[in-house]
Amino acid sequence: MNPSHPQRQAALQVVRKLRDTGFEAYWAGGSVRDELLGRQPHDYDVATNARPEQVRNLFGHARTLTIGAAFGVIGVQAARGCGPVEVATFRTDGVYADGRRPESVHFSDARHDASRRDFTINGLFYDPLGQRVIDYVGGQEDLKIGLIRAIGDPRARFTEDKLRLLRAVRFATTLGFKIEQETEAAIREMASQIDVVSAERIGMELRKMLTHPRRSQGVALLARTCLLETVLPEFGRQANAEAEEDWQQTLQRLDRLQSDSLSTCLAALLLTASSAQAIRQIAMRLRYSNKEAERAQWLFDSLPLAMKAEQLPWPELQRLLVHAGSKELVALAEAVAGRGQAESHAGLKRCREVLAMPPERRDPPLLVTGDDLIAHGLPPGPYFSRLLAAIRDAQLLGQLVDRQQALEMAERWVREHGE
Ligand code: ATP
Ligand code: MG
Repeated sequence: MNPSHPQRQAALQVVRKLRDTGFEAYWAGGSVRDELLGRQPHDYDVATNARPEQVRNLFGHARTLTIGAAFGVIGVQAARGCGPVEVATFRTDGVYADGRRPESVHFSDARHDASRRDFTINGLFYDPLGQRVIDYVGGQEDLKIGLIRAIGDPRARFTEDKLRLLRAVRFATTLGFKIEQETEAAIREMASQIDVVSAERIGMELRKMLTHPRRSQGVALLARTCLLETVLPEFGRQANAEAEEDWQQTLQRLDRLQSDSLSTCLAALLLTASSAQAIRQIAMRLRYSNKEAERAQWLFDSLPLAMKAEQLPWPELQRLLVHAGSKELVALAEAVAGRGQAESHAGLKRCREVLAMPPERRDPPLLVTGDDLIAHGLPPGPYFSRLLAAIRDAQLLGQLVDRQQALEMAERWVREHGE
C-alpha cells in the first residue's frame, strides 16, 4: 500500500477533521483489511458517529453529496484528483425482508456497526491518527490465519443477505483464504437461495473470481459449496466418469490460463459445458457487455482454428490473428493445449510466429477500398464485400503487389462473377 495514495490522504484528512470536531471516526471495512494485508485498497471508507447532516455541515454542502440516503452515507470530496471518500454513520441494520437489503437502519455505535458487517476480516476499524486497529469481531486473528468467517451465526447472516454466500467464495478466491467450517457448511445448505440475488450482482462477483489468477480454486469452491449449479446451471454435474474427466480438465485449463480478460476466462470455463451460442447468452444473462459476450463467442468459435493454425491457408490465419481478440485467443489455446504442450504444439507455434511478425507483414495496408472501386467506375453493391475479400486474399498470397493490379483484378472479377 502506498502511503501517499491520493484517496488515502483524502480519507486521512476526513478522519482528522471529524476527530478535531469531537466525533469518533475510523477507516472501516475492506480498506482496513487490505491495508493490514499490505495491499492497496480500491477505496477508503470512513465510519463515524457523526450523523449524515453533521457530516454535510462540517464539510460543506458544495463538497458533499448524499450517496446512500437510506443508509446515511455521504460522499465527501476531500481532495482533487480522487473520487469522494464515503463517510457512513455507525449503524445497525433493521429487518431484512427480501434476502438482500435491510428495510430500515438505525444509527448506533462502532461495536454494532462492526457486527452488521459480513465477515470478520471485513469488520475491522482502523484509527489512522493513533495507528491502531479496533477489532470487535476477531478479524485480526482471521486475517493472520487466512480465514473467511461470518460475523455471528452464519445461517442468520446468510438469511439476511444472500449475496454474502457468493461474497464469501469471492473473498476466499481473491485473498487465497479458506472458508471457516461452519460458514462453509451454511453456504452449502443455503446455496440454492442465491437465486434471489440479481443476475447483475452475481455477474459482478463471478467477474472478480474468474479474472483472478486463482480462478480455478474459486470455481472448485463454487462447485463444492453447490453455488455453481445455481449461478451456472449449465454445469448441472452429471455423476459419471466422462463428466468428471471434463470437470478436472476445466479446472486445469482455468489454472493454466494466463489472461485477465473476462471473455477468455468465461470461454475457458464453459468450453466443454456449453456451445458458442450458449456462452454468449450466459454472458448476456450475467449482464456483461455486448462486446464481452461477442468476444467470448468468437473465442469459442475460433479456438479449433487456432489449434490447427499450421494447417490453415495464410489468408484465413491472417484474418484470425489480426482480430482484436487474437492475443486472448492464443492465451486460451495455450491453456487448452496443456502444460508442457504449449511450447511444442504446432498450431500454437504458428500463431506465436504470426503474432511476432512486424505489423506491416502481418497486416499489410489494403491495396484498394470500396471508395477506390467506385472511383474506378464499378457500380457499388452488396457484392463489394466478396470482391474486396477476394482482392485481400490475393494480396495476402502475394498475387497482387500494387493498387493497379488490384483494380485490374476487380474488373476481371466483375466480368467473371457479375455483380
Ligand atoms: P472490495 O471493495 O475489494 O470488493 P470490500 O470489502 O471493500 O471489498 P465493499 O462492497 O466495498 O467490499 O464493502 C465495504 C464494506 O462494507 C465491507 O468490507 C463490509 O464491511 C461491508 N459490506 C459490504 N457488503 C456487505 C454485505 N452484503 N453484507 C454485510 N456487510 C457488507
Ligand atoms: Mg470496497
